[in-house]
Amino acid sequence: APIPLTVLGTGAMGAALVRAWLAAGHPVTVWNRTPARAEALAADGATVAASAAEAVAANRLVIACLLDDASVGEALDGTDLTGRDLVNLTTGTPAEGRARATWAQERGARFLAGGIMAVPPMIGGPGSGAYVFYSGSPALFEEHGTTLAVPAGTRYVGEDAGFAALYDVALLSAMSGMFAGIAHAFALIRPEDIAPKDFAPLLVSWLGAMSGSAHLAAEQLESGDYGKDVVSNLAMQVAGNATLLRTAEEQGVSAELLRPYAALLERWLAEGHGEEDTTGAVELLDLRRGAA
Ligand code: NDP
Repeated sequence: APIPLTVLGTGAMGAALVRAWLAAGHPVTVWNRTPARAEALAADGATVAASAAEAVAANRLVIACLLDDASVGEALDGTDLTGRDLVNLTTGTPAEGRARATWAQERGARFLAGGIMAVPPMIGGPGSGAYVFYSGSPALFEEHGTTLAVPAGTRYVGEDAGFAALYDVALLSAMSGMFAGIAHAFALIRPEDIAPKDFAPLLVSWLGAMSGSAHLAAEQLESGDYGKDVVSNLAMQVAGNATLLRTAEEQGVSAELLRPYAALLERWLAEGHGEEDTTGAVELLDLRRGAA
């Protein structure tokens, strides 16, 4: 039978999670700092607890989906976590994940951190591609993996409670670069009579085709040979970047998003790596480089 669980935090994401578990037949106890937001879920079948302590006491499996790590500390302060299985789906940093794991263990709970790779409408939708990175207690994940897989797919990435956040934030950081690139591309065509709607499909397919370069970069990083199977060498790419910067200027577009990456590749070129790929950028970003 579907096991009962508690969800702390019924914001946009928490509410989506609750609805998915309820739809799958799990009895769900909910708590939210602003009670009206939790009460809205009573119509879907959720049991509303009057306090976080009461919600935590109701079930062994406790899910937290709050704004940030500080709000998790605030919400759980004064609750009895002894014997609980705490799954924290609140986005945080890796260090916050590790500290929260220690904090939970000191209070007698097993702990699992999660990083949600989805927006609320994707939750509970089969085939939506939504999934959650989990790290922390392997025993907790083993025991509750099936329940955790109800709202979204699960990917367990290790015992280090910081890893869920690390994987999550690494993907989001790559996305940030992609969003920056998309903004710049639209800015370039903006002064012209080119419809953004006609341009968007070109962007999507080009970015899709180019993102596969991550596989080659991974091979180069693992072999330590950044010249392995180079398709477009660095000297050529640095020259190409100069064209990107001049085009921005011609179009009256700020190059502020392009310049940092172009500068990084110029530094690697200046260190004599013109025949390599761009993978050396990974090394230049490592602040431990040269500090050792
Ligand atoms: P919302 O802003 O909709 O909800 C935030 C929740 O946190 C509310 O329940 C709010 O309570 C609660 N909260 C904030 N501060 C405190 C506090 N000090 N003490 C107790 N409760 C507090 O955010 P989401 O539901 O969208 O996001 C929740 C988590 O999910 C975040 O960590 C977010 O990064 C993550 N996430 C969200 C995604 C999204 O697209 N929405 C995607 C992936 C991850 P109240 O109602 O009282 O304000």
